[in-house]
Amino acid sequence: MALGLEASLGDSVLTTKIDAVINWGREYSLWPFVFGTACCAIEFMSAAASQHDISRWGAEVVRFSPRQADLLLVAGTISYKQAPILKQIYEQMPEPKWVVAMGACASSGGIYDNYCTVQGIDTIIPVDVYISGCPSRPEAVLDALMKIQAQIRGESVLNDRHKDFKGILD
Ligand code: SF4
Repeated sequence: MALGLEASLGDSVLTTKIDAVINWGREYSLWPFVFGTACCAIEFMSAAASQHDISRWGAEVVRFSPRQADLLLVAGTISYKQAPILKQIYEQMPEPKWVVAMGACASSGGIYDNYCTVQGIDTIIPVDVYISGCPSRPEAVLDALMKIQAQIRGESVLNDRHKDFKGILD
């Protein structure tokens, strides 16, 4: 949105009410894209299975195209060779979008402190929520969804949250 309009609207009643309505829709209709490269991705499959009923959070429609997704969930070890692919997938997702780093490997490289493993995906793309564990439990994935929802509730349509992010590939 144009900077002039952003400055003139600010925190007006109009924008806060619009934010509330749009955020309500966004928080209960997350469309996940899972970038699964290793064991943590198996735990996501469990989280998405009927036992955990992920549709309670409106996030059951897992997409296979980043262009149809607004929640990137990175589950597994990311090598430097994969890093440009991950970045491209992130860039192909339309705004607004959110990112979850699932498990120790995605969050920090985990036990793979070596020459070929990215030491946390936040060196490549911005991350909104980190999930601990090796692997992360399905319940932790649901908890991350609730944290993303809480974050969405506090956002404004006028803000571009990731505009200042600079990663190692930028
Ligand atoms: Fe596998 Fe553990 Fe890494 Fe998850 S954090 S991808 S379970 S090694």
